[in-house]
Amino acid sequence: MSKHLLNAAKPASSFGRETFSGCLSCGDQIRHPICPDCIATGYRQWVSKFSDDSSEIMKKLDMFLKGHKKFNGGSLRCVSCGEKKTHLCPYCFTNFLYKITKEAGVGVRVLSEFLFIFNFDFEHEGYSRELEFFGGY
Ligand SMILES: [Zn+2]
Ligand SMILES: [Zn+2]
Repeated sequence: MSKHLLNAAKPASSFGRETFSGCLSCGDQIRHPICPDCIATGYRQWVSKFSDDSSEIMKKLDMFLKGHKKFNGGSLRCVSCGEKKTHLCPYCFTNFLYKITKEAGVGVRVLSEFLFIFNFDFEHEGYSRELEFFGGY
C-alpha cells in the first residue's frame, strides 16, 4: 500500500484522539448526536405514564447508564444538552430501550407507541420493521 493511501485512511485531523465520533456499539459515525441521558429523560417520562411499576425497567436503564459513564467527556457534543457525552448513536441506545421495554411484557400497543415516539431507526433497518409488522402509523 502506498504512503498516499495510508494517509487517506486517517480520520480528519480536526478530530483528536479523544473526540472519537463513532458509536461505541455499532462503530458508525454518529450523525444525530443526542446523548443517552437526554433520550433517557424522555423515556423515563414516557414509561411512568403507562406503568405503575416501572422499577425493573428503571433499574436496567440506570445500570446501563452507570456502566457507560466512563465514556463521557471524550465523545461528541449532544445537540440537546450540549455536553460531550454522546458515545452511542441514538439508534443503538433506543434499541436497548426497546429491548428492556419489550422484556417488561408491556404488550403490542405500548411497544408500537414506543416505536412511534423513539424512532431513531433512520434507515429503517432494525426495530422499526416491527412497527410495520404491528400495523404501523
Ligand atoms: Zn450505534
Ligand atoms: Zn444530552
